[in-house]
Amino acid sequence: MSTLESYVAGRWQAGTDDGEPVLDAVTGEEITRVSSHGIDFAAVVAHAREVGGPAVARLTFHERATLLKELALHLGGAKDEFYALSLRTGATRRDSAVDIDGGIGTLFSYASKGKRELPDDTVVLDGALEPLGKGGTFVGQHLYTSRPGVAVQINAFNFPVWGMLEKLAPAFLAGLPGIVKPGSQTAYLTAAVVRHIIASGILPEGSLQLVCGSAGTLLDELGEQDSVAFTGSAHTAEILRSHPSVLHRGVRLGVEADSLNCSILGPDVRPEDPELDLFFKGVVTEMTVKAGQKCTAIRRVLVPEAMADAVIGAISARLARITVGNPADDGVRMGALASLRQRDEVRKAIEALRTSADIVHGDPDHVEVVGADAERGAFLSPVLLRARPGAAEPHEVEPFGPVATVLTYGSVDEAVALAARGRGSLVASLVTHDPQVARDVTRGLAPWHGRLLLLDRDDAAESTGHGSPLPMLVHGGPGRAGGGEELGGVRGVLHHMQRTAVQGSPDMLTAVTGRWTTGSRRVVGSVHPFRKSLAELRVGDTIETATRTVTQDDIDHFAEFTGDTFYAHTDPAAAAANPFFGGIVAHGYLVVSLAAGLFVDPAPGPVLANFGVDNLRFLTPVHVGDTIRVALTVKQITPRTSADYGEVRWEADVTNQDGEQVAAYDVLTLVAKTGQNTTGKNTTGQDTTGA
Ligand code: NAP
Repeated sequence: MSTLESYVAGRWQAGTDDGEPVLDAVTGEEITRVSSHGIDFAAVVAHAREVGGPAVARLTFHERATLLKELALHLGGAKDEFYALSLRTGATRRDSAVDIDGGIGTLFSYASKGKRELPDDTVVLDGALEPLGKGGTFVGQHLYTSRPGVAVQINAFNFPVWGMLEKLAPAFLAGLPGIVKPGSQTAYLTAAVVRHIIASGILPEGSLQLVCGSAGTLLDELGEQDSVAFTGSAHTAEILRSHPSVLHRGVRLGVEADSLNCSILGPDVRPEDPELDLFFKGVVTEMTVKAGQKCTAIRRVLVPEAMADAVIGAISARLARITVGNPADDGVRMGALASLRQRDEVRKAIEALRTSADIVHGDPDHVEVVGADAERGAFLSPVLLRARPGAAEPHEVEPFGPVATVLTYGSVDEAVALAARGRGSLVASLVTHDPQVARDVTRGLAPWHGRLLLLDRDDAAESTGHGSPLPMLVHGGPGRAGGGEELGGVRGVLHHMQRTAVQGSPDMLTAVTGRWTTGSRRVVGSVHPFRKSLAELRVGDTIETATRTVTQDDIDHFAEFTGDTFYAHTDPAAAAANPFFGGIVAHGYLVVSLAAGLFVDPAPGPVLANFGVDNLRFLTPVHVGDTIRVALTVKQITPRTSADYGEVRWEADVTNQDGEQVAAYDVLTLVAKTGQNTTGKNTTGQDTTGA
């Protein structure tokens, strides 16, 4: 039997000893062996730093996002192979979808977010400019840059595909090369995916390496700019937290450890309510999907005392209908655990739970199995327990399998207190149709959880369920859950980057950030910037407009034309009594409209459309007789990679005759990249004016 190859320093390499056997979870046959013996970990890290890192860092966020999308499409074409291998991990087709399609979906989601929410640049500005001096010559700006480091991921066995891709996507977008160390038990599936990634040539060489087998001395090679994202047991997390590289060299360690998640049945739910069925469904699904080997699975089922018997009866009846067996068999709802060792671990955990809870459904030592040998495969019956009063173990012991314990509560406060005894969890769900219960429980639970699902008849049809981490929402939880945070959309990308406060003059900050900073030099040329294509425009290009004096007729006309006859524009006495206006004032939208009339250059040209304004503020009232003018400055230029136009953000600064700012906002336009002439045809002859 050959050992599974790792992909390190640009080549596939097998371990140099016999390695550890990895068995098929269903049949017990040996699939492969894993060993990282003989891998030069210093060379692996050097390859990531010297080859992969610079290649990824050279790309903009949009270019990285484009590669992630290509990768997602490419892997989608190889799904059949991954599904076939996934059966051997004990996963049913439904389980595999969570892992394989969930992983590929995460790549798509990050590709899209990278394009839409990050700039086509290599730095990200964080927050607004901070004025630091009265004269406006000294300002501060927070910005994120990519670290010249390596993102190591050490993953648990339960999600061999999603586990890798959900970490790879944000780290790659952040500009970091990755080294993946999968859980050995299912590393063959991770390796199959990595083979496709490497063979595709989509990612730059060195940006993804794979270590199958033990992590060896990998962590010894890491330093201040590197990070480790760990998913696994609290025990291993403890070992990693005390590693010298973490303790003494500032390696950033993110931990996603075990979690005693709960689902709470609200005190308002009556037997006839649809919420009760949703609750049962949620518990049974979470107990049986992936045979309960999910970090987000429901381990504690919290119900009002009076509902306990009914809940136990209904959940037991549903569990009795779950067919356990060979996941390749269509009728099977729950496959095997990942390994016989894992089954032993779960049996031990059930024994520990029995110290303070009684089994009310299932037998840990026996299960009817369809299409496989119950002893050679790692099969286990779903097991439901009921806690005795004052039970401690259900809040301490994590059975990483199809096991949950029912606990009862008297009041909402008690339910919150019981949930908190998990000492920090990834997720909790509350099934209630009562907004007050939702408010009280959510406010109590939130500090102890990374994610909360409020489930009722209104959101059930669209709900993604208790157990599904989503790319756009934070995954991670405080305390026992590890204190880590992954995903969460762009938050997950920024998490890998360094935030730095940069102080200096506005001109210096414009140079550093590539975005025009308020207070920087404006460039007023002889050509109106609306006549310049994206290729010709420069940050700082400015239109300084003529002036316009606002008349009573302007205000009356606008009020009548739009129907906005708010008293401040139409009723002199009432307007005079207003604490801010002291008399009739122009509508804010009139000011913005007049401003557009001042800065627009009307003829067809490179400016294709105005798609909105950001950060609009009306700062000083405009009275009849006031004279306004506008300075419109190119603030940011973002070419779109897959279009022949890009976005231009302009800063609009509207002032009155005394130099006071009356309105400030960003104008957002689409501008042709090149060759736009006054007929509205671009160089390809395409009409881009929308006419
Ligand atoms: P584990 O034994 O802690 O293993 C996790 C990973 O750590 C594996 O890749 C393992 O490699 C590696 N590892 C073990 N000892 C190590 C060491 N001394 N140095 C470096 N790496 C080491 O956990 P598991 O049994 O695979 O996974 C089950 C646990 O993971 C459960 O407790 C579950 O709750 C938790 N989990 C949490 C999340 C989450 O997002 N919070 C998700 C999934 C699972 P080998 O496989 O080669 O031993």
